[in-house]
Order: sequence, then structure tokens, then C-alpha cells
Amino acid sequence: MAKIGINIATGSLQQNEMIVGIDLGTTNSLVAIIHPDTRQPVVLKEHDGVTLVPSIVHFGEQGQVTVGNEAKKFLVTEPQHTIFSVKRLMGKSYNDIKDHSVFFSYKVIDDNKESLVKIQVGAAFYSPVELSSFILKELKTRAEHILKTPVTRAVITVPAYFNDAQRQATRDAGKLAGLDVLRIVNEPTAASLAYGMGLNREEVKTIAVYDLGGGTFDISVLRISNGIFEVLSTNGDTYLGGDDFDREVVKYWSKEAGLNDEELKMHKNLAQELRLLAEEAKIQLSNLDSFTGVVAGQEFSLTREQLEELIRPLVERTIECCRNAMSDAELTVSAIDEVVMVGGSTRVPLVKKTVSDFFAKSVHDSLNPDEVVALGAAVQADILAGNNKELLLLDITPLSLGIETMGGLMDVLIPRNSKIPSQAGRQYTTQKDGQGSMRISVFQGERDLVKDNRKLAEFNLTGIPGMPAGLPKVEVSFLVNADGILTVKAKELRSGVEQSIEVKPQYGLTDAEVEKMLMDSITHAKEDIHVRALVEAQTEARQLIDTTGQFISRNKAFLTEEEISQTQAAMDQLAALISHASKDQIQAGIEKLNELSRPYAERLMDQAIGKAMKGKSITE
Ligand code: ADP
Ligand code: MG
Repeated sequence: MAKIGINIATGSLQQNEMIVGIDLGTTNSLVAIIHPDTRQPVVLKEHDGVTLVPSIVHFGEQGQVTVGNEAKKFLVTEPQHTIFSVKRLMGKSYNDIKDHSVFFSYKVIDDNKESLVKIQVGAAFYSPVELSSFILKELKTRAEHILKTPVTRAVITVPAYFNDAQRQATRDAGKLAGLDVLRIVNEPTAASLAYGMGLNREEVKTIAVYDLGGGTFDISVLRISNGIFEVLSTNGDTYLGGDDFDREVVKYWSKEAGLNDEELKMHKNLAQELRLLAEEAKIQLSNLDSFTGVVAGQEFSLTREQLEELIRPLVERTIECCRNAMSDAELTVSAIDEVVMVGGSTRVPLVKKTVSDFFAKSVHDSLNPDEVVALGAAVQADILAGNNKELLLLDITPLSLGIETMGGLMDVLIPRNSKIPSQAGRQYTTQKDGQGSMRISVFQGERDLVKDNRKLAEFNLTGIPGMPAGLPKVEVSFLVNADGILTVKAKELRSGVEQSIEVKPQYGLTDAEVEKMLMDSITHAKEDIHVRALVEAQTEARQLIDTTGQFISRNKAFLTEEEISQTQAAMDQLAALISHASKDQIQAGIEKLNELSRPYAERLMDQAIGKAMKGKSITE
């Protein structure tokens, strides 16, 4: 058995440059690293101890950009110039968000409802990718300031339910900010990693990650085995979070003080001040039993009991989502081994208790819930940096895997982004009569022609007993195991001859290379479709000439002179077209030859030819 060493995954990097983990949140963002001395994940802190950067971008008169707490100050006074919750807009069109348009106090452009949203600030237009890049750039600058070293590489987290477009948008934002995004990691996966789950290969566990942030709620059910995280289900409410708790408190206080909605709308500043005081109260009540504060000369107070009464229905709604997630995962709560608490709002004691009651177990809350995702991202970054050699956390194949078929075409067996472990098989056949061997060439990449992809391995399946073309059934199967090792097996089903090859991780593609390959496949998509169609026509023409030729020589006795000479002429014409004519011309030639042979073929067609004319075949 031949062995060729190639990494199917992106592979671990050898350099020791610091790679940071970034939690790019809806409300707050932050950066973490593995401390080089203690080897423990830590969140980066400013001098004043501040770790969270509000995910808010403000544009000044001259278009100057500020991010974070500085920008937050303008939320009330300059709502049109102060952008929050950008994450909600990543990869979205106006149609996707129109039901929530009142939520955004800035201008979301709606002239083209189908294409990706833009945000208008004064005379300028920004995409969510650009806006996120401002936040990432700020995080990068702060990290460089704190670490006193350039920061160019990062792992960024996203919600488990983010689709490809949203993940790509996040990557692009990183790139715009001058970051090489080595990996996009699911937030619940990162949170579990921060608690050390999944770091032990033998461990098999089912984990519920409950993430209640400022404006969003996510529940994810994960299964880890062999160091692989699989998302079994996700559920949640993208418009439910700690901000809603604040709103309930504001409503309650307003009623108490006899302020109606109209008055609050009139006095935007008053409303905003009340909102800030409400958040302060909520946060304090996570530790104390009562709170008193003053706004506009008036005293407002709240007890923990009162707060719990106000938010209970909201907390109940999150439990409803948990129930749905469990039923989607086809699990009962007893199947959950660990419950991980994520997001600032899980500090609320009522939330903790309700979740713990629902899952009938104590929850993991020893790490800061608003830091845990960033901490896990740092753990993942460290693994990618090659500092944790035993671990290669891959959960998906970054590029498609397939084999070469007739005409140098790529036939994909395992598409990119497949979860691993992963398995796929397909049947192929021979192209020539008596073909005794078949070459199996394994490729990785997104292009239609194998010559544009990366060759991983090649082997010959020999000893196929002599049979007419199209008769052998060769089953080619791909298995990517948990370690990212690909085994390719080929077996001729009629005779049982088989051969296999293992493609082992040894050196890898960097994410940049993977990205380039993906970009290439996009830029060449049109051209590839064209080439694929041409190659398919050429292959079909060659096969038709072959089979027709064989048919004639085998059945001469049953055909007329005229049939034979006409067919021969059409075959010659088609053969001449193959090398230089267009796809349409070749297809016309095929059609013509088919037309000619159809009447007598129908008379005489035997099964073997029928078989030879369909199915993909592989050359000797
Ligand atoms: P996101 O993931 O959406 O960026 P975070 O995880 O940072 O958000 O959570 C922010 C929310 O957590 C805010 O609503 C904030 O008021 C709330 N929060 C932070 N600390 C506490 C606390 N001690 N008690 C209750 N809520 C808190
Ligand atoms: Mg979060």
C-alpha cells in the first residue's frame, strides 16, 4: 500500500508568532491570547482594567471613526452617525432584516432589497463588512498596544448558525482590518474549549451551550468525540437578550413615575438615561438585593425580586428555545453531560437557576461569561500556532476532495465544508474493452479541471478481469477519519479486486492557500463551466466513436453496406471535430452520428453497449 503524506486540513502552522482569539460580538467584542508564561488563556486588558469593547462605531463630522466606549456616548445624541449591532447585518439583504428595521436607528439602505445591505452615514455608504472591519481594526490596535508586538493573525468566532455568506463576510472584515483570519470558529465550540472540553481525544460528550448576550439568545447542542465538535442543533431568538431586561425595567419605572410613552419619546435623553440606569440596576442586582439610583432629580429603586418578576417571561422564552433545540437534536435533557453558560446576561441569578433547573444539573459558570468565547478562541489559536501538537481541531474539510474522470475532469466525492469524519462512494467503469487496470488520481480543490486542483495521491487498481468496456463496476470510496486522514479505496465489485491508499497529514495548506484556491474557483467559475461542458462533449464524442466502431465491427453481418459507409463517414467527421470545434459543433456531430445509427442500433442493441454508453469511465 502506497502512502503519500499530505494534509487534508489546513494543517498546523510552525511559526511561533502570537495568534489572537477574537470574539466579535453583537454588543461587545474582545481579544484573548494564551499567556506565553502561564500557558493559560487570558483576556487582554487596558490599563484601566477594561476588557470589553462595545461593538459600536461612530462617524464624526469629518468622517473620523471612533469605536467602543467613545462611540457609545453618541448613541443618543447622534443616532444616525452611531452604528451598533452590525453583526446582525453581516451577509444580509434588506429583505432579510426589513421586519426589524425599527430596531436600527441609523439608515439601512433599502433601494435594492435583494442585494447585501449598506448603511448610509451622511453622504457615505458602508457595508457591514467595512463596519465590522473598523471594530476589528480597533481591537487589533489595542492588542498591539497591550502586547507591544504586531498582531497580524487571528481566530474569529461566529454564531453556530452563521451561514457561508456570513462566515465569509466575517473573514473579509478581518482581511480589511489587516488580519489574516486563520480560522472561523463557532462560538459554542470556543466556549466549550475554554472549559477544556474537547481537548481530550478520548472524551465523548454532549454539551448544551446557553448564550444570552445583550440582544441575542443562542442555544447550541454540541457533541464532541475524538476532538471533533459537531453541532447537533441550534435554536434561539435573534431579538432577545439583556437589553430586553433593561427595557422591562424602564417600562416599570416609567409607569411608577407616571411617565407615558409620549413623554419618553419627547425626552430622548431622559429615556436614554433611564435605560442606562436600568442596566446599572440589573447588573447590581446580580450581586445585591436592592438598588437605588437618581435620574433628573428623581429616585428610582428596584429589588431583585421585582426584577425577577419583570424578566421571568423573557427567561421562559429562552427555555422554550432550549426545548426546541433538544427535540431537534432528538435528545432528552438527561443526555446532556455539560451545560456551559455564555454571555453577560447569564450573570443574572434567575437565568442561572432557570437553566440549571431545566437541564437538571449544575452549570459551568466559573469563567467570566462575557469572556469565555474569546478565551476559547485563544485556545484554538494556540492549537493552530502549533503549540499544542497533539491536537488538530478540524471539524470540516476546507476543500473538496475527488478523483479524476475522463477528460481530466474533477469528480467531487466529498464536497468542501463537509463535517469530518466523512464518507462517500461512487461507481465508475472502464472505457476500453478488456481494460485490466484503472488509475485512481485523487485531487483537492474547487476547480472543474483536475489540472487546476492539487493532486494528493494516485494509484492503480490492477487485476480487473477482461470484460467489455462499461461492464466492470469499480466502487471508489473516500473516508476522511477524525484525524483528517483520507483513505481512498477502489474495488471492482464483480471480481472483488481491491486496492487502497492512505493520504496522511504531514504538511498542510495555509488558510491563505485554501482561500486562494477558493477565490480562483470563483473567478474562474464561468470559464470552468464552459471548459467542463466542452470536455464532457469531447469525452462523449470519443466514447461514441469507440462504441459505434466496436458495434459495427461486431455486427457487420447484420448491417447494410450503406449503413456502414454512412456511419463511418459520420464517425470520421466527429473525430475531426473533437480537437478544435466548439461544444455545440461537437454535440451536433454526436447527434448526427446517433441519428444515423439509431435505426439499426435499435434493431441490434445489446446490453453491453447500452452500459458502455452511460456512466463515467476512467482511462487505463
Ligand atoms: P454579546 O455577546 O451580545 O456581545 P455580552 O455577552 O457582552 O453580549 O453581554 C452583554 C449583556 O450582558 C448586556 O445586556 C449587559 O447588560 C449584560 N450584563 C453584563 N454584566 C451583567 C451582570 N453582572 N448582570 C446582568 N447582566 C449583565
Ligand atoms: Mg456573545
